[in-house]
Amino acid sequence: MNWDEGLAFDRAHLWHPYSALPGQPVWPVVEARGTRLKLADGRELIDGMASWWCAVHGYRHPRLNAALNTQLERLAHVMFGGLTHEPAIALGQRLLKLVPAGLEKIFFCDSGSVAVEVALKLALQYFQAQGQAAKRKFLALRGGYHGDTFGAMAVCDPVTGMHRLFAGFLPKQFFAPRPSCRFGDPWDPKDAQPLAAIIERHHREIAALILEPIVQGAGGMWFYHPDYLRTARRLCDEFKILLIADEIATGFGRTGRLFACEHAGIRPDILCLGKALTGGYLSLAATLTTAEVAATVCAGEAKCLMHGPTFMANPLACQVAAESLDLLLESDWQANVTRIEAGLRQGLAPCQTLPAVAEVRVLGAIGVVELKAPVDLAAITPKLVERGVWLRPFGKLIYTMPAYCIAEDEIGALCQAIYEVISDL
Ligand code: PMP
Repeated sequence: MNWDEGLAFDRAHLWHPYSALPGQPVWPVVEARGTRLKLADGRELIDGMASWWCAVHGYRHPRLNAALNTQLERLAHVMFGGLTHEPAIALGQRLLKLVPAGLEKIFFCDSGSVAVEVALKLALQYFQAQGQAAKRKFLALRGGYHGDTFGAMAVCDPVTGMHRLFAGFLPKQFFAPRPSCRFGDPWDPKDAQPLAAIIERHHREIAALILEPIVQGAGGMWFYHPDYLRTARRLCDEFKILLIADEIATGFGRTGRLFACEHAGIRPDILCLGKALTGGYLSLAATLTTAEVAATVCAGEAKCLMHGPTFMANPLACQVAAESLDLLLESDWQANVTRIEAGLRQGLAPCQTLPAVAEVRVLGAIGVVELKAPVDLAAITPKLVERGVWLRPFGKLIYTMPAYCIAEDEIGALCQAIYEVISDL
């Protein structure tokens, strides 16, 4: 490719996530392997983002490639309406062995946002089927992020989540304050009082509480106390509200447990999975629920769950996801995440001494440096690339969630680059 022309076309015509046109500079990637991205000019970057939580095994894994190639020779896609196939069944069987017991009905969809839409629909149809149609609002947490489609956006943080921009179209939901009690600190029961107060007052209107368990991701990379989650579970039970756990970012080991709900030993009524589900190969997500929720929904007016995407349970995506789960379980992922956690703690600790830094926090294979002021992305990204690392800061946050196979010296290099670019500010 003539990259001068290619990049000019890209800048003029291609939207990137949350981007303007003409666009900001982007870096062309021509190849990737393991934790390395190779740029068109031959430079190699250590990838600290795992493509936004997804590529947990690293890029171009031979087993994932082989699974995909084998499936490609058989069946790339077929409609899921009235037909089924082995990859969907194989993936479903694997998932049920992993997720908290009691979640046994699976809806495969195409992206995390859609998985959240399906979760919201399940909750609405569940109460409608029981003649409780007044329960059609959702309760969410400030600082939360659940996706960019309208239903999902409506439960994202109302300030950072673009509510103002789409006001008048977005349904208004209830929001509890962001949990303030940190993961690892002593639990203060007062932290869940605002949540309890909203539930006590409005439970007749609320179908479900939706939250990201333990780690709020794109809404602020915030780690909160497992007892908050336990309290939320108890309140939902007491007031007949469904609990939706959005584990799209936290799922598959990222926080040190296979699913973040396990930190609190709770089971949600509805679970959303995505991102690392396919090891970062293809877009696939899943919404899981209990037999009771599914049976109730299917006994309602519609007699079915009202959703059915064209690319539902795409065989290529399901096959690579099944292989990715096998790979994860066969690996010592927990030891790896613990190792990365220790490496990030040690590597990022010096950042704490820098005047521009408000806080450093690490949980599982997630390292976060929160600055006192927002990062100038256009200025900082080239400096990171010059230092041989790929990171994508947002707001006041410079953070990393690398592949689980990242080597010690690569963690060191990521942390060192973060330290240096912040020192330069
Ligand atoms: N929920 C959470 C917690 C997420 O982090 C994301 C993606 N950043 C989504 C939902 C939406 O997923 P997708 O981008 O695949 O639609």
